[in-house]
Amino acid sequence: NLHSENAGNIVKSDRDMNLSPFKGVAITDYLFQDLGKWSNAVSMECTLTGRKYTHGEVYNYSRGFGTALQQMGYGKGDTLAIAIPNMPEYPIVTFGAWFSKLTVTLVNPLYTPFEIGKQLADCEAKCIVTLGLFLPYILQAKSAYPVLASMKVIVIGEPQEGCHTFAEMLRVDSSSAKLASSSDPDLNTEEDVILLPYSSGTTGPPKGCMLTHSNLVLNCAQTNATINAHQFTNGNPQEVGLGLLPFFHIMAFQALGLINFTIGGKVLCLPRFEPDTFIECLKNNQLSIMHIVAPLFQFIISHPELSKEEFSECKTIFTGACPTSRILIDKFLEKASKFVLIQEGYGMTELSPLSHMILPDSENSRLSSVGPPIPNTLVKVVCPETGKALGPKEKGEIWIKGPQVMKGYFKNEEATKDTITSDGWLKTGDIGLYEEDKHFFIVDRLKELIKVKGIQVSPSELEAELRMHPAVADVAVVGIPHKTLGEAARAFVVSKSTVSETEIADFLKDKLSSHKQLSGGVQFVQEIPKAPSGKILRRELKTMYLEGQGTA
Ligand code: AMP
Repeated sequence: NLHSENAGNIVKSDRDMNLSPFKGVAITDYLFQDLGKWSNAVSMECTLTGRKYTHGEVYNYSRGFGTALQQMGYGKGDTLAIAIPNMPEYPIVTFGAWFSKLTVTLVNPLYTPFEIGKQLADCEAKCIVTLGLFLPYILQAKSAYPVLASMKVIVIGEPQEGCHTFAEMLRVDSSSAKLASSSDPDLNTEEDVILLPYSSGTTGPPKGCMLTHSNLVLNCAQTNATINAHQFTNGNPQEVGLGLLPFFHIMAFQALGLINFTIGGKVLCLPRFEPDTFIECLKNNQLSIMHIVAPLFQFIISHPELSKEEFSECKTIFTGACPTSRILIDKFLEKASKFVLIQEGYGMTELSPLSHMILPDSENSRLSSVGPPIPNTLVKVVCPETGKALGPKEKGEIWIKGPQVMKGYFKNEEATKDTITSDGWLKTGDIGLYEEDKHFFIVDRLKELIKVKGIQVSPSELEAELRMHPAVADVAVVGIPHKTLGEAARAFVVSKSTVSETEIADFLKDKLSSHKQLSGGVQFVQEIPKAPSGKILRRELKTMYLEGQGTA
């Protein structure tokens, strides 16, 4: 009956909802609509320092920060970059920018100056919020691009010469400021871009994904309809979440930075992964929700200090961002708790980010599936050869249509056209299939993207750098399976003079951040296999490598 119900093999959720109450709503109105219920409850807490803010403080401080941004002359059309680790100020910065209608771009704070500069210059950032610790890198990045000459730097923590101090900006009186709201005639929720996270998409270097109020508000509403987190009202305990996955990646940004504010939850921020502080956080707090990616499951399973006790209050674990193996989840459930619900989700930065998730009443009966489409989302599996939408159990490229599909790539119409069809389908570049009960499985990737610990690595970005090495005649980078990282980048190099594998690998050390290093190794080859169009045949290289390992 799937066929008759879904004409043309288009799969949709059985739980479609009325989205009209969310249309035309400004993100700031959406996030704080129920603030009165939990204004005095803690929303974000730093596990290292204990520094924390209530929901009410986040509201007030972000209005103050937003007002200060206006007083500095910023407004709609200006981009603010945020380059800080997971810390309680993260939402104050983002919401503050949104109260004054700025666009926010998320920067990995561990990026090298070279990487930071490229992103800031691409989005023409007008100001950046960072820590004193990262200031030298930011200034180095800024000085490399004339377009960044007037970019102002706002520092959280001790005042720094030549920089604005975040703590002073928070305290600016917002009572007479004109801040964003749904009724503002100057605000267009369908068109105004408020978030510009970077993703390489199906091919090429990282590009800014233009996400609007409507993208984020509706995707939060779709997500909230698919989780059983309760709102923090009298009689209900507060949801306590783990703020470990990086906020600069859209999965954690949405879950912990946005959804947390719609349920009155509390997030315990861990600025970086260190085994001791992570274990301490689990031992000292009873977490009710956790967001975890595959390498962290591996850590929990293998660490002797962690047992059922640390997970006794945990109801739900959300996972995604990269494949999580069934074996890993089974081992985790055995060690931690049989009662934890595992909700795997699937999505992309380009999808604000969610399109699929395991249902809250699944009772772990569909592990290894990413679930059915979330409400109001259409999905088809398209045969790459014929372009036809396929039926159940047939593998093809996953295409998505719904209110969460981004507006497009920033300043890149060509990439936008290649990714979103004229009738609104987003081509994910992932290969998958669905079963009769509409549950989807991701089985492979058509696109060249590599995911190291769930974080994106663009092979073309690495290739462009490696081509600058004087001994490199040609190069291709592909992702290979890696025990602790999930995947790792491996370079296949055609050399034109004598050079060692280590020299090639070391060439990226200063330029690119740690997850973009060649942890998968370097291999010299006679030639790079290419299609007549010049496109690198990456699959051939990956197969060659796996055959060499006896795992193809
Ligand atoms: P990002 O934009 O960084 O979130 O990356 C999106 C990509 O991550 C998707 O296109 C997939 O290739 C991969 N991905 C996300 N969720 C899953 C999942 N549950 N299983 C397998 N791959 C996933």
